[in-house]
Amino acid sequence: MDRRDFLKRFGLGAASLGAGAALGDEWVDAAKSLPEGSVGDPRNVWFGQRIFPIPHTIEDGPSCRIENGKIVMPAREVPVFHRADVAVVGGGPAGFAAAVASARAGAKTVLIEKSGSLGGLFTNGMVLLMLCSSAREDGKYRLVTRGICEEFMTRAQKMGPYASTGPVPETRHWQPTVDPEAAKYLMDSMCAEAGVETFFHASGIDVVQEGDAVRGVVFSSKQGFQAVLASQVVDCTGDGDVFFAAGCGYRQITHGIGFTVRLGNIDKVTAKEKPPKRDDDPIPRRWPVRSNEGNPATWWGGALGPKGDGLSVRDLSRAEVEHRRRWWKHVEIMRGTPGWEKTFILNTCSQIGPRATRLLESEVIFDRAAAAAGTEKDNAIGWFGDDGPHAAMPIPYGALVPRRGDNVLAAGRCIGAPDTIDTFRLICPCFVTGQAAGTAAALAAARSVTPRSLPVADLRRRLAADGVFLG
Ligand SMILES: Cc1cc2nc3c(=O)[nH]c(=O)nc-3n(C[C@H](O)[C@H](O)[C@H](O)COP(=O)(O)OP(=O)(O)OC[C@H]3O[C@@H](n4cnc5c(N)ncnc54)[C@H](O)[C@@H]3O)c2cc1C
Repeated sequence: MDRRDFLKRFGLGAASLGAGAALGDEWVDAAKSLPEGSVGDPRNVWFGQRIFPIPHTIEDGPSCRIENGKIVMPAREVPVFHRADVAVVGGGPAGFAAAVASARAGAKTVLIEKSGSLGGLFTNGMVLLMLCSSAREDGKYRLVTRGICEEFMTRAQKMGPYASTGPVPETRHWQPTVDPEAAKYLMDSMCAEAGVETFFHASGIDVVQEGDAVRGVVFSSKQGFQAVLASQVVDCTGDGDVFFAAGCGYRQITHGIGFTVRLGNIDKVTAKEKPPKRDDDPIPRRWPVRSNEGNPATWWGGALGPKGDGLSVRDLSRAEVEHRRRWWKHVEIMRGTPGWEKTFILNTCSQIGPRATRLLESEVIFDRAAAAAGTEKDNAIGWFGDDGPHAAMPIPYGALVPRRGDNVLAAGRCIGAPDTIDTFRLICPCFVTGQAAGTAAALAAARSVTPRSLPVADLRRRLAADGVFLG
């Protein structure tokens, strides 16, 4: 019995089987009676009515076995779920920009994201302030993270004051605070407009390799392991999960594992300044007296957090619990303090923030000395803004290209630029490296060449045409 017969037998009608329709296309609505074939509850018109049995959508492979005291994973065939020119893994700021750029450059592009929404640490990590966008020249600021980053900031601003804080005079950085739901919605919209196919709830766990060349990605989901075959893969996982699996080489570092919260009723705070420090206050520096977002009722903030191994389930789990404990205690104290009685924790981030973990062993290890010497200026694929202590700088293509392994590029907070980590990991620079990697992947796929052999001049020409600032 094929799927059509199966669905017919269980009463799913023509509407569900129309051209291109899939399970889930028909939204549940109240019905007066149970449709034919439904195994739902006839007395529950809201929830019970449209429950149908469906065939298994995937068969599981053999489980791990204990052999000679070791746990071994038996060989299994991995079903091919999808084929594309470019697969981007990770949908944070870098992955979003990479996927949009790749699709706009004409590549059939998929974006594989383990959570259920785009934006990564920006949205799910609730790190709402888009830093490092501008270069300071003669006391004025010029936006250098242009291209998709500028487009995103401009569109977010047009969504209204609750979506994004407004423009600033050119004597200051343009660094908007964007509401996380507005950012998710805008990223979904821009991906859809560009023709990106996004797969949520899918964790990239391995690559498909032929020799040193990567041919696709294996992801795990509720349906087990499946593969996406692609000519080029862009690693935007933040942690280098793809280049790790591909054996490209990396260095690993610790960094503060941060965490953010949003507080509500900030417009009801009547105090004007923070109270004297209390010894029992676990977060003594966070006493907001006004909103720092577009929405006057909300405030976002975080803590640097413990230094740890951002890949370790133990370190991450301990940090999550401790961060939440501290914020709860802090806000308890806050609510007991005159002027802050009405504040409350609106939400805590759904994605904890390891600032950096694996950094790519790249063709060019970019550092501040190279930036100062200007040796890589002609290979720049974009610029990072001034980050406070350091001036704006160009970033070379070679920092995105692995020294070992073909058909893989990296973007975002895991590129090969170790001592500029606290610049390139900021949101605006991640848009920039994402756009460059996505564009390079699309060009490499179209020409059937490896990213390493793609002429940088061609890439720069395309990026310049797409509005990227190249100096
Ligand atoms: C506490 C904290 C505060 C910060 N404050 C600021 C700030 O004020 N301003 C600023 O500009 N920057 C700030 N940053 C830095 C910035 O938020 C991040 O460095 C930036 O978001 C990194 O972007 P990315 O796309 O490289 O990675 P991420 O934002 O980490 O996104 C990675 C995405 O990939 C997904 N993913 C990961 N692994 C897989 C996998 N195997 N398969 C599929 N999907 C996967 C994740 O779910 C996520 O969506 C802060 C960071 C932290 C932790």
